[in-house]
Amino acid sequence: MLIKKYFRAACSIAIAFALTLQSSVTALAAPDSWKDPSTIGSVSATEAYNLKDDFYTTINRDWLAATAIPDGKDNYGEFNSLQEQNDANLIEIMKKSDSDDLDQQIFNTYYEFLSDWDTRNALGYAPIIPFIDSIRSISSLEEMNKYLVNPDVNVLENGIVSYYSTVSFDDPSKYVLNLSESDLLLPDANDYTTLSDLGSIYKDMYTDTASYMLKRMGYSSKEAKKTIKDCFAYEALLAKNMYTQDDLNSLDFFKNINNVLPLADVKALLGNYPIEGILNSVGFTDIDNVVAENPKYLASVGKLYNEKNLALMKNYFIVHTVIYFSDILDRETYETTEKIKNDAFGVSGMKSDDQYYLDTAKNNLMTVIDNVYINNFTSDKMKKDIEGVIKDSIAYYRKMLMNEAWLSQQTKDAATHKLDSMVIHAVKPDKLQDHSGLVLIPKSEGGNLVVASLIAMKYWAQDNYKKYKTTKDRDAWDYDSMYEVNSYYNFTDNSINIIPGICGGVFYNEDMTKEEIYGGIGAVIGHEISHAFDSRGGQFDASGALADWWTPEDKAAFDDRVSKLTTYFDNLKVSDTMGNCNGVMLSGEAIADMAGIKCMLNLAAKEPDFDYNKFFTHYAVMWRRLLTSENELYRMSQDPHPLSYLRTNLVLAQYDEFLNTYGITATDGMYIAPADRIAVW
Ligand SMILES: [Zn+2]
Repeated sequence: MLIKKYFRAACSIAIAFALTLQSSVTALAAPDSWKDPSTIGSVSATEAYNLKDDFYTTINRDWLAATAIPDGKDNYGEFNSLQEQNDANLIEIMKKSDSDDLDQQIFNTYYEFLSDWDTRNALGYAPIIPFIDSIRSISSLEEMNKYLVNPDVNVLENGIVSYYSTVSFDDPSKYVLNLSESDLLLPDANDYTTLSDLGSIYKDMYTDTASYMLKRMGYSSKEAKKTIKDCFAYEALLAKNMYTQDDLNSLDFFKNINNVLPLADVKALLGNYPIEGILNSVGFTDIDNVVAENPKYLASVGKLYNEKNLALMKNYFIVHTVIYFSDILDRETYETTEKIKNDAFGVSGMKSDDQYYLDTAKNNLMTVIDNVYINNFTSDKMKKDIEGVIKDSIAYYRKMLMNEAWLSQQTKDAATHKLDSMVIHAVKPDKLQDHSGLVLIPKSEGGNLVVASLIAMKYWAQDNYKKYKTTKDRDAWDYDSMYEVNSYYNFTDNSINIIPGICGGVFYNEDMTKEEIYGGIGAVIGHEISHAFDSRGGQFDASGALADWWTPEDKAAFDDRVSKLTTYFDNLKVSDTMGNCNGVMLSGEAIADMAGIKCMLNLAAKEPDFDYNKFFTHYAVMWRRLLTSENELYRMSQDPHPLSYLRTNLVLAQYDEFLNTYGITATDGMYIAPADRIAVW
């Protein structure tokens, strides 16, 4: 059911992407003057730092030494600080029960269900026991078939193959049906053969969560243990033919998942698994072709879907079902499972109840909350300002591309065509999504939190499914999570999306100086535009189709430049505990960070008396962030964005404007010789 978002290069959240390239460049030395300042206690307020040796830690020393990670969080910095403000604004609205606005009404109704602990505690597990019972009572493959194709019983759309509508990689104006792998509890398919440190954190966390919940439902310790063991055993069988983290990171990943097959072929691969019945039961009809993201996986499901594995399969569904509901049952379940999660990621304390209500509402109400945010917290001035910086930045990229000595005219023409076709989504769409079809049953008519959550889940699923075979409106803004401190470039419609959640804090306000704008939201905008020309975004053309528009020579020259950057990161050791960076994973975001700053430096050059120190300092402050060591471990293996100190130091050290501002020379830690610089653009 999870709708996978392979297509986004987002600025601040972790979506694992990376590429593999043969490295043909001699290893460069990574700076040894930069000590990893990511976790609490790494930086002392009394230690002397020199900005010529370590800019990030020097500028942020006092903040890094004095700041604590708040209760309920596993990281903290300027992104989180602005998110707190955005969330506080939303929480105030969430509690208002007297609005005429439909979105606000839905938001408030859901909040009423969430905060009604008396009802939630009285109901306990009663709302979900029928779902578990319907799985437990299955005694043959035939009954399993009946369960899978009956959405009245299989309410969570449990299954071993995920399905969703998305635009075609070949023709992004058309929605097609994608079949993909199911969800695993562990972060990497490789964890089922060799359990990594991160995999072990997840395994313990989900084992403890499922074990507690199953026992609350009356399972004995022994039964609970067996159920969870079966779930992991079935996942291990599935994982054998799933994409690993390295596969997901591969530069060829988009090509690898774009397998258009007739439904008949897919049915043949899937054997007894009732794929057509399942798809028909949720509304996909008249299916001709499907995109099989991993045909090898589908073939393995065909073999694993048999009578012999029935018990494993049932327990896989049971464990996934209980975990799904862990945050919307009674108070004891919420507190217990939240604490398990917090302990796993080094989080101390609990988030506030209001924050919990909001976070859960975000997960379940999706664009309803976007509409509330847009209607209440955006302005036309904000939109105009941001559009202005985007247009200036695009104009700069045009000049930059035209001036790249290593690109042929043919590639330059294609690249500038892509740039000219880029769709600008700044701050808010002209037309908001209509949610009049999302009707939550009130408490007086038997509604409760679980019922409301399931209605919402079905609504969003149908909202996605009904797009199948329709034409995508290129002017429509396919938005979500607009209240998040984030931004993204969307490969498949060639759009830059600067969303309102990031238009505050250190990033933007209406009174900021040019130095602050360029060092804040400007750098974000420059970053996002460059994703159109990074190692993944560059595989998609002006229309958003997966199509090669580079000449082979230019592509090879680009790959060489990427390879130099990748090797640099591979050789960069963060610490003994964290190990080295994963260059292939980080390459796209690292390219984007450097291009973003280069773009802003070019805009800055046009400004009279531009204060470069103010600009660089603002940039370093924007990136300051503290992590728990568990969160850092997660980022090192799953987050395509480099750590904050690298996003600052390594990026700035590429540019003479920075070195000249501070008189940095070859003997300083922040110095990188021109021949060793790794910026791709
Ligand atoms: Zn990015």
